[in-house]
Amino acid sequence: MIKLNNVSKWYGQFQVLTDCTTQVAKGEVVVVCGPSGSGKSTLIKTVNGLEPFQKGEITVDGVSVGDPKTDLSKLRARIGMVFQNFELFPHLSIRQNLTLGQMKVLGRSEDEATERGLKYLDRVGLIAQKDKFPGQLSGGQQQRVAIARALSMDPIAMLFDEPTSALDPEMINEVLDVMVGLAQEGMTMMVVTHEMGFAKKVANRIVFMDKGVIVEDCVKDEFFTNARSDRARDFLAKII
Ligand code: ADP
Ligand code: MG
Repeated sequence: MIKLNNVSKWYGQFQVLTDCTTQVAKGEVVVVCGPSGSGKSTLIKTVNGLEPFQKGEITVDGVSVGDPKTDLSKLRARIGMVFQNFELFPHLSIRQNLTLGQMKVLGRSEDEATERGLKYLDRVGLIAQKDKFPGQLSGGQQQRVAIARALSMDPIAMLFDEPTSALDPEMINEVLDVMVGLAQEGMTMMVVTHEMGFAKKVANRIVFMDKGVIVEDCVKDEFFTNARSDRARDFLAKII
C-alpha cells in the first residue's frame, strides 16, 4: 500500500532523511520510533505529500507521491492523518468538524456526511458530544474526534504522528484503544509513537530511526528481543 524507496530530503543544507526505504502492506501496522529529531514526523509527512522530498520514490496504492503530475489533494483525501495536537477546527462544532471535509473534498451531501460522521463519532464513544465545540472536550476526546473525522473520509490508510504525546497520562489509553480496534479490523497504519505497549499489541513491524536513517526495520518480536543496533537497544532501555 505504501512504499518508500531510497527517500532523501534536505532542509536547505541539512539532510533530514537519508535513503529511507520501507513499506507498509495492506492491513499492516508499522510503528515508527526513534529519538526526538530523528526525522519521524518528516518521514510520515512525505508519505502524503505534506513535505516534499528531493530523492527517491514514494508510492501510495500505486500512485507516485513525488510525480508533479500527481494530484496531491486527491491523494491526501484518501489517506487519513492524525497529528499530535488534534488540529480540529475550534470554531466549528464536533458535527461540523466531521462533515466539512466530506462535503468539500468528497462532494458528499450534508445528510450523507452527517450520517457517516456520526457513525464514526459513535464508534469512538462520543456521540453525546456532537453539538459541542472542540474547546469543551478533553484532549483525549478531541483526539478521538480527530480519528473519527479521518475515518469518515474512508481512508485507504491512516498515518498517526505521536497521537498521544500531547495528552495527560490518564487519557492516553482511550485513544490507544481506538487505534488498537482499528488495527484489529485490518486498517493499514503507519504510526509514529513511543507507546511500546501499543507496538507490542498490534504492530507487525517496527521501524527505528536515528539521525534521518532507518536503522532497523524488522518484525516486532525481533525488535523487542533482538534489536541489532546499539542505538535501538539504548532507545528501548530508556523508554521501557
Ligand atoms: P522527529 O519527528 O523524529 O522528532 P522531525 O522530523 O520533526 O523529527 O525533525 C527532524 C529534524 O529536522 C530535526 O533536526 C528538526 O530540527 C529538523 N526540521 C524539522 N522541520 C524543519 C524545518 N521546517 N526546517 C528546518 N529543519 C527542520
Ligand atoms: Mg515528530
